[in-house]
Amino acid sequence: GATIGILGGGQLGRMLAIAAAQLGYRCHIYAPEEESVAAEVSAGFTRAPWSDGEALGTFAAACDVVTLEFENVPVGPLAAIPAAKLAPPARALEVAQDRLKEKCFAEQHGGRPAPFAQVDSPADLAAAIERIGTPGILKTRREGYDGKGQWRIAGPDEIDALELPADDLVYEGLVRFEAEFSVVLVRGRDGEVRFWDSPENVHRGGILATTTLPAPDTVTEHVAAARELAGKIAGSLDYVGVMTCEFFATEDGPVFNEMAPRVHNSGHWTIEGAETSQFENHIRAICGLPLGDTATIAPRIEMENLIGSDVERAEEILAEPGAHLHLYGKAEARDGRKMGHVTRLGR
Ligand code: ATP
Ligand code: MG
Ligand code: MG
Repeated sequence: GATIGILGGGQLGRMLAIAAAQLGYRCHIYAPEEESVAAEVSAGFTRAPWSDGEALGTFAAACDVVTLEFENVPVGPLAAIPAAKLAPPARALEVAQDRLKEKCFAEQHGGRPAPFAQVDSPADLAAAIERIGTPGILKTRREGYDGKGQWRIAGPDEIDALELPADDLVYEGLVRFEAEFSVVLVRGRDGEVRFWDSPENVHRGGILATTTLPAPDTVTEHVAAARELAGKIAGSLDYVGVMTCEFFATEDGPVFNEMAPRVHNSGHWTIEGAETSQFENHIRAICGLPLGDTATIAPRIEMENLIGSDVERAEEILAEPGAHLHLYGKAEARDGRKMGHVTRLGR
Protein backbone atom coordinates (compact mmCIF):
# COMPACT_ATOMS: atom_id res chain seq x y z
CA GLY A 1 0.00 0.00 0.00
CA ALA A 2 0.93 3.61 -0.39
CA THR A 3 2.10 5.97 2.38
CA ILE A 4 -0.02 8.86 3.60
CA GLY A 5 1.64 11.78 5.39
CA ILE A 6 -0.42 13.53 8.06
CA LEU A 7 0.50 17.00 9.34
CA GLY A 8 -0.50 17.16 13.02
CA GLY A 9 -0.29 14.55 15.73
CA GLY A 10 -3.59 14.72 17.63
CA GLN A 11 -6.70 12.56 17.89
CA LEU A 12 -7.98 13.52 14.45
CA GLY A 13 -4.74 12.20 12.95
CA ARG A 14 -5.06 9.09 15.08
CA MET A 15 -8.55 8.34 13.77
CA LEU A 16 -7.43 9.11 10.20
CA ALA A 17 -4.51 6.69 10.58
CA ILE A 18 -6.81 3.96 11.89
CA ALA A 19 -9.14 4.42 8.90
CA ALA A 20 -6.17 4.46 6.52
CA ALA A 21 -4.81 1.22 7.97
CA GLN A 22 -8.15 -0.48 7.30
CA LEU A 23 -7.78 0.42 3.62
CA GLY A 24 -4.22 -0.93 3.47
CA TYR A 25 -2.33 2.35 3.71
CA ARG A 26 0.37 3.26 6.19
CA CYS A 27 0.68 6.70 7.75
CA HIS A 28 3.59 8.94 8.69
CA ILE A 29 2.95 11.75 11.16
CA TYR A 30 4.65 15.15 11.12
CA ALA A 31 4.26 17.20 14.30
CA PRO A 32 6.34 19.51 16.47
CA GLU A 33 5.25 18.07 19.82
CA GLU A 34 6.87 15.09 21.48
CA GLU A 35 3.56 13.50 22.51
CA SER A 36 1.61 12.35 19.48
CA VAL A 37 -1.40 10.10 19.89
CA ALA A 38 -1.48 9.84 16.09
CA ALA A 39 2.13 8.64 15.84
CA GLU A 40 1.34 5.86 18.33
CA VAL A 41 -0.85 4.16 15.73
CA SER A 42 1.26 5.09 12.69
CA ALA A 43 4.30 3.68 10.93
CA GLY A 44 6.47 6.78 11.12
CA PHE A 45 6.92 10.02 13.04
CA THR A 46 8.86 13.10 12.01
CA ARG A 47 9.17 15.47 14.93
CA ALA A 48 10.11 18.90 13.56
CA PRO A 49 8.85 22.49 13.72
CA TRP A 50 6.20 23.76 11.29
CA SER A 51 8.68 26.37 10.07
CA ASP A 52 11.21 23.74 8.88
CA GLY A 53 10.69 23.70 5.10
CA GLU A 54 13.55 21.25 4.62
CA ALA A 55 12.05 18.71 7.04
CA LEU A 56 8.63 19.15 5.40
CA GLY A 57 10.17 18.53 1.96
CA THR A 58 11.95 15.37 3.13
CA PHE A 59 8.75 14.19 4.83
CA ALA A 60 6.68 14.75 1.68
CA ALA A 61 9.25 12.95 -0.49
CA ALA A 62 8.68 9.79 1.56
CA CYS A 63 4.87 10.02 1.18
CA ASP A 64 2.57 9.47 -1.80
CA VAL A 65 0.08 12.05 -0.54
CA VAL A 66 0.17 14.54 2.35
CA THR A 67 -2.87 15.69 4.30
CA LEU A 68 -3.46 17.44 7.61
CA GLU A 69 -5.42 17.18 10.82
CA PHE A 70 -4.36 20.59 12.18
CA GLU A 71 -5.51 23.71 10.36
CA ASN A 72 -2.95 26.15 11.72
CA VAL A 73 0.08 24.75 9.90
CA PRO A 74 1.86 27.89 8.61
CA VAL A 75 1.25 28.14 4.87
CA GLY A 76 4.68 29.54 3.82
CA PRO A 77 6.83 26.46 4.59
CA LEU A 78 4.16 24.22 3.00
CA ALA A 79 5.55 25.36 -0.37
CA ALA A 80 8.20 22.66 0.24
CA ILE A 81 5.47 20.08 -0.45
CA PRO A 82 4.60 19.66 -4.16
CA ALA A 83 1.08 21.08 -4.58
CA ALA A 84 -0.09 17.93 -6.37
CA LYS A 85 0.73 15.89 -3.25
CA LEU A 86 -1.07 18.13 -0.76
CA ALA A 87 -4.79 17.64 -0.06
CA PRO A 88 -6.61 19.79 0.90
CA PRO A 89 -4.81 22.58 -0.99
CA ALA A 90 -2.80 25.26 0.86
CA ARG A 91 -5.31 27.91 -0.24
CA ALA A 92 -7.98 26.26 1.95
CA LEU A 93 -5.68 26.65 4.96
CA GLU A 94 -4.93 30.25 4.12
CA VAL A 95 -8.65 31.10 4.21
CA ALA A 96 -9.60 28.97 7.21
CA GLN A 97 -6.69 30.14 9.38
CA ASP A 98 -7.92 33.71 9.48
CA ARG A 99 -11.40 34.46 10.85
CA LEU A 100 -11.55 37.72 8.90
CA LYS A 101 -10.63 36.06 5.59
CA GLU A 102 -13.01 33.17 6.17
CA LYS A 103 -15.96 35.47 6.90
CA CYS A 104 -15.22 37.54 3.77
CA PHE A 105 -14.82 34.35 1.74
CA ALA A 106 -18.18 33.03 2.98
CA GLU A 107 -19.81 36.36 2.12
CA GLN A 108 -18.34 36.29 -1.39
CA HIS A 109 -19.99 32.91 -1.88
CA GLY A 110 -23.42 34.08 -0.78
CA GLY A 111 -23.15 33.21 2.92
CA ARG A 112 -24.13 35.40 5.85
CA PRO A 113 -21.72 35.61 8.80
CA ALA A 114 -22.52 37.46 12.04
CA PRO A 115 -21.96 41.22 11.62
CA PHE A 116 -18.20 41.68 11.98
CA ALA A 117 -15.40 44.25 11.94
CA GLN A 118 -11.63 44.11 11.75
CA VAL A 119 -10.05 45.40 14.99
CA ASP A 120 -6.42 46.55 15.02
CA SER A 121 -6.63 49.27 17.68
CA PRO A 122 -8.78 50.44 20.62
CA ALA A 123 -10.31 53.04 18.28
CA ASP A 124 -11.32 50.26 15.84
CA LEU A 125 -13.00 48.41 18.70
CA ALA A 126 -14.97 51.47 19.79
CA ALA A 127 -16.07 52.03 16.19
CA ALA A 128 -16.99 48.35 15.78
CA ILE A 129 -19.14 48.43 18.91
CA GLU A 130 -20.73 51.67 17.78
CA ARG A 131 -21.72 50.09 14.45
CA ILE A 132 -22.48 46.48 15.47
CA GLY A 133 -23.55 47.00 19.07
CA THR A 134 -23.32 44.72 22.10
CA PRO A 135 -23.36 41.99 23.21
CA GLY A 136 -20.55 40.77 21.02
CA ILE A 137 -17.40 38.71 20.97
CA LEU A 138 -13.88 39.87 20.33
CA LYS A 139 -11.80 37.07 18.78
CA THR A 140 -8.21 36.66 17.70
CA ARG A 141 -8.18 36.23 13.92
CA ARG A 142 -5.73 33.36 14.13
CA GLU A 143 -5.05 30.23 16.17
CA GLY A 144 -8.13 30.14 18.42
CA TYR A 145 -9.85 26.82 19.06
CA ASP A 146 -12.24 25.44 21.67
CA GLY A 147 -13.27 29.03 22.45
CA LYS A 148 -9.71 30.13 23.33
CA GLY A 149 -8.71 33.64 22.29
CA GLN A 150 -12.23 35.06 22.71
CA TRP A 151 -13.62 37.80 24.95
CA ARG A 152 -17.34 38.36 25.40
CA ILE A 153 -18.35 42.01 25.65
CA ALA A 154 -21.72 42.59 27.30
CA GLY A 155 -21.82 46.39 27.05
CA PRO A 156 -19.83 49.32 25.63
CA ASP A 157 -18.58 50.37 29.10
CA GLU A 158 -16.61 47.12 29.35
CA ILE A 159 -14.08 48.11 26.71
CA ASP A 160 -12.23 50.58 28.96
CA ALA A 161 -11.20 47.78 31.31
CA LEU A 162 -10.27 45.47 28.42
CA GLU A 163 -6.58 45.05 27.70
CA LEU A 164 -6.37 44.44 23.97
CA PRO A 165 -4.06 41.56 23.09
CA ALA A 166 -1.33 42.26 20.54
CA ASP A 167 -2.89 39.87 17.99
CA ASP A 168 -4.98 40.89 14.99
CA LEU A 169 -8.61 40.79 16.08
CA VAL A 170 -12.15 40.67 14.79
CA TYR A 171 -15.26 41.81 16.64
CA GLU A 172 -18.55 40.12 15.90
CA GLY A 173 -22.09 40.56 17.11
CA LEU A 174 -23.47 37.82 19.36
CA VAL A 175 -25.92 35.75 17.33
CA ARG A 176 -29.15 34.80 19.08
CA PHE A 177 -29.38 31.34 17.64
CA GLU A 178 -31.99 28.62 18.05
CA ALA A 179 -29.38 25.91 17.63
CA GLU A 180 -25.91 25.28 16.26
CA PHE A 181 -25.19 22.78 13.52
CA SER A 182 -22.48 21.80 11.10
CA VAL A 183 -22.20 20.70 7.50
CA VAL A 184 -19.57 18.01 7.05
CA LEU A 185 -18.84 17.20 3.42
CA VAL A 186 -16.33 15.24 1.42
CA ARG A 187 -15.12 16.33 -2.01
CA GLY A 188 -13.34 13.90 -4.29
CA ARG A 189 -10.54 14.57 -6.77
CA ASP A 190 -13.13 14.54 -9.56
CA GLY A 191 -15.21 17.24 -7.81
CA GLU A 192 -17.95 14.94 -6.54
CA VAL A 193 -19.39 16.21 -3.23
CA ARG A 194 -21.21 14.16 -0.60
CA PHE A 195 -22.74 15.42 2.64
CA TRP A 196 -23.39 13.65 5.92
CA ASP A 197 -26.59 14.49 7.78
CA SER A 198 -26.21 17.67 9.81
CA PRO A 199 -26.25 17.15 13.58
CA GLU A 200 -27.17 19.67 16.26
CA ASN A 201 -24.03 20.72 18.12
CA VAL A 202 -24.15 21.89 21.74
CA HIS A 203 -21.12 23.75 23.09
CA ARG A 204 -20.27 24.28 26.75
CA GLY A 205 -17.71 26.91 27.63
CA GLY A 206 -16.77 27.24 23.94
CA ILE A 207 -16.03 23.50 23.61
CA LEU A 208 -18.21 21.06 21.69
CA ALA A 209 -20.06 18.95 24.28
CA THR A 210 -22.54 16.87 22.26
CA THR A 211 -23.59 16.23 18.68
CA THR A 212 -27.09 14.81 18.17
CA LEU A 213 -29.03 13.29 15.28
CA PRO A 214 -31.67 13.72 14.11
CA ALA A 215 -31.33 17.47 14.53
CA PRO A 216 -34.51 19.43 15.42
CA ASP A 217 -36.61 21.13 12.73
CA THR A 218 -35.05 24.48 13.66
CA VAL A 219 -31.85 23.01 12.15
CA THR A 220 -33.08 20.81 9.32
CA GLU A 221 -34.99 23.66 7.68
CA HIS A 222 -31.65 25.45 7.13
CA VAL A 223 -29.53 22.51 6.01
CA ALA A 224 -30.16 22.94 2.26
CA ALA A 225 -29.04 26.59 2.31
CA ALA A 226 -26.02 25.74 4.48
CA ARG A 227 -25.01 22.89 2.17
CA GLU A 228 -25.26 25.14 -0.84
CA LEU A 229 -22.78 27.56 0.73
CA ALA A 230 -20.40 24.83 1.98
CA GLY A 231 -20.45 23.17 -1.45
CA LYS A 232 -19.66 26.47 -3.19
CA ILE A 233 -16.78 27.15 -0.80
CA ALA A 234 -15.34 23.67 -1.37
CA GLY A 235 -15.67 23.98 -5.14
CA SER A 236 -14.11 27.41 -5.24
CA LEU A 237 -11.10 26.16 -3.24
CA ASP A 238 -10.76 23.09 -5.47
CA TYR A 239 -10.97 21.24 -2.20
CA VAL A 240 -10.11 17.55 -1.81
CA GLY A 241 -11.05 15.69 1.37
CA VAL A 242 -13.42 16.33 4.28
CA MET A 243 -14.37 19.94 5.03
CA THR A 244 -16.64 21.31 7.74
CA CYS A 245 -18.65 24.51 8.12
CA GLU A 246 -20.21 25.52 11.45
CA PHE A 247 -23.50 27.42 11.44
CA PHE A 248 -25.96 29.11 13.79
CA ALA A 249 -29.60 28.32 13.01
CA THR A 250 -31.64 31.51 13.31
CA GLU A 251 -35.15 32.61 12.36
CA ASP A 252 -33.64 34.41 9.36
CA GLY A 253 -31.71 31.40 8.08
CA PRO A 254 -28.28 29.91 8.65
CA VAL A 255 -25.51 32.20 9.89
CA PHE A 256 -22.00 31.08 8.93
CA ASN A 257 -19.68 30.79 11.95
CA GLU A 258 -16.42 29.23 10.75
CA MET A 259 -14.94 26.53 8.57
CA ALA A 260 -12.43 23.77 9.27
CA PRO A 261 -10.34 22.36 6.39
CA ARG A 262 -10.31 18.90 7.93
CA VAL A 263 -12.28 16.16 9.61
CA HIS A 264 -14.26 17.58 12.51
CA ASN A 265 -15.34 16.73 16.04
CA SER A 266 -19.00 17.08 15.00
CA GLY A 267 -18.38 14.26 12.49
CA HIS A 268 -17.11 11.67 14.98
CA TRP A 269 -20.56 10.07 15.10
CA THR A 270 -20.04 8.89 11.51
CA ILE A 271 -17.65 6.13 12.67
CA GLU A 272 -20.53 4.03 13.93
CA GLY A 273 -23.49 6.08 12.69
CA ALA A 274 -22.89 6.34 8.95
CA GLU A 275 -22.22 3.86 6.15
CA THR A 276 -18.80 5.48 5.63
CA SER A 277 -17.08 7.55 8.33
CA GLN A 278 -15.64 11.02 7.75
CA PHE A 279 -12.18 9.52 8.36
CA GLU A 280 -12.53 6.79 5.75
CA ASN A 281 -14.01 9.16 3.18
CA HIS A 282 -11.20 11.64 3.77
CA ILE A 283 -8.67 8.89 3.06
CA ARG A 284 -10.66 7.75 0.01
CA ALA A 285 -10.83 11.32 -1.34
CA ILE A 286 -7.14 12.18 -0.95
CA CYS A 287 -6.11 8.79 -2.39
CA GLY A 288 -8.37 9.20 -5.42
CA LEU A 289 -10.60 6.24 -4.51
CA PRO A 290 -14.37 6.29 -5.09
CA LEU A 291 -16.21 8.02 -2.22
CA GLY A 292 -18.30 5.92 0.18
CA ASP A 293 -21.98 6.26 0.99
CA THR A 294 -22.58 8.93 3.66
CA ALA A 295 -26.06 7.71 4.71
CA THR A 296 -26.93 7.65 8.43
CA ILE A 297 -27.59 4.11 9.63
CA ALA A 298 -29.33 4.59 12.99
CA PRO A 299 -32.53 6.47 13.86
CA ARG A 300 -30.97 8.26 16.84
CA ILE A 301 -27.34 9.07 17.49
CA GLU A 302 -25.57 11.03 20.19
CA MET A 303 -21.85 11.76 20.36
CA GLU A 304 -20.61 13.00 23.73
CA ASN A 305 -17.12 14.40 24.15
CA LEU A 306 -15.14 13.18 27.15
CA ILE A 307 -13.35 16.31 28.34
CA GLY A 308 -10.82 16.35 31.19
CA SER A 309 -12.04 14.26 34.13
CA ASP A 310 -15.07 12.97 32.12
CA VAL A 311 -12.71 10.23 31.06
CA GLU A 312 -13.07 8.72 34.56
CA ARG A 313 -16.51 7.53 33.39
CA ALA A 314 -14.92 5.26 30.77
CA GLU A 315 -15.61 2.05 32.69
CA GLU A 316 -19.27 2.95 33.25
CA ILE A 317 -19.61 3.71 29.55
CA LEU A 318 -18.10 0.33 28.64
CA ALA A 319 -20.96 -1.31 30.56
CA GLU A 320 -23.60 0.55 28.55
CA PRO A 321 -25.20 -1.39 25.70
CA GLY A 322 -25.07 0.54 22.42
CA ALA A 323 -22.30 2.85 23.62
CA HIS A 324 -19.12 3.02 21.53
CA LEU A 325 -16.16 4.32 23.51
CA HIS A 326 -13.15 6.00 21.91
CA LEU A 327 -10.12 6.94 24.02
CA TYR A 328 -7.36 8.98 22.43
CA GLY A 329 -4.52 7.67 24.60
CA LYS A 330 -3.52 11.08 25.97
CA ALA A 331 -1.30 10.88 29.04
CA GLU A 332 -2.76 13.71 31.11
CA ALA A 333 -6.46 14.51 31.65
CA ARG A 334 -6.02 18.28 31.95
CA ASP A 335 -9.09 20.53 32.26
CA GLY A 336 -10.71 21.28 28.91
CA ARG A 337 -8.66 18.63 27.10
CA LYS A 338 -10.50 16.30 24.73
CA MET A 339 -9.63 12.82 26.06
CA GLY A 340 -12.08 10.72 24.09
CA HIS A 341 -15.69 10.49 23.00
CA VAL A 342 -18.61 8.12 23.16
CA THR A 343 -21.19 7.53 20.44
CA ARG A 344 -24.54 6.10 21.47
CA LEU A 345 -26.78 4.60 18.84
CA GLY A 346 -30.48 4.40 19.66
CA ARG A 347 -33.59 3.00 18.10
P1 ATP B 1 -13.69 25.39 17.43
O1 ATP B 1 -13.13 24.58 18.55
O2 ATP B 1 -15.04 24.94 16.94
O3 ATP B 1 -12.72 25.67 16.32
P2 ATP B 1 -13.39 28.20 18.02
O4 ATP B 1 -12.48 28.42 19.18
O5 ATP B 1 -12.85 28.42 16.67
O6 ATP B 1 -14.07 26.78 18.13
P3 ATP B 1 -15.95 29.54 17.61
O7 ATP B 1 -16.52 28.43 16.83
O8 ATP B 1 -15.76 30.85 16.95
O9 ATP B 1 -14.58 29.17 18.34
O10 ATP B 1 -16.80 29.79 18.93
C1 ATP B 1 -17.03 28.75 19.86
C2 ATP B 1 -18.48 28.77 20.29
O11 ATP B 1 -18.80 30.06 20.91
C3 ATP B 1 -19.45 28.65 19.15
O12 ATP B 1 -19.67 27.33 18.76
C4 ATP B 1 -20.69 29.30 19.76
O13 ATP B 1 -21.31 28.44 20.70
C5 ATP B 1 -20.09 30.47 20.52
N1 ATP B 1 -20.01 31.64 19.62
C6 ATP B 1 -18.94 32.02 18.90
N2 ATP B 1 -19.20 33.14 18.17
C7 ATP B 1 -20.48 33.44 18.41
C8 ATP B 1 -21.37 34.49 17.98
N3 ATP B 1 -20.97 35.44 17.14
N4 ATP B 1 -22.63 34.48 18.43
C9 ATP B 1 -23.05 33.54 19.31
N5 ATP B 1 -22.28 32.56 19.77
C10 ATP B 1 -21.01 32.49 19.35
MG1 MG C 1 -12.48 27.18 15.08
MG1 MG D 1 -16.12 26.57 16.22
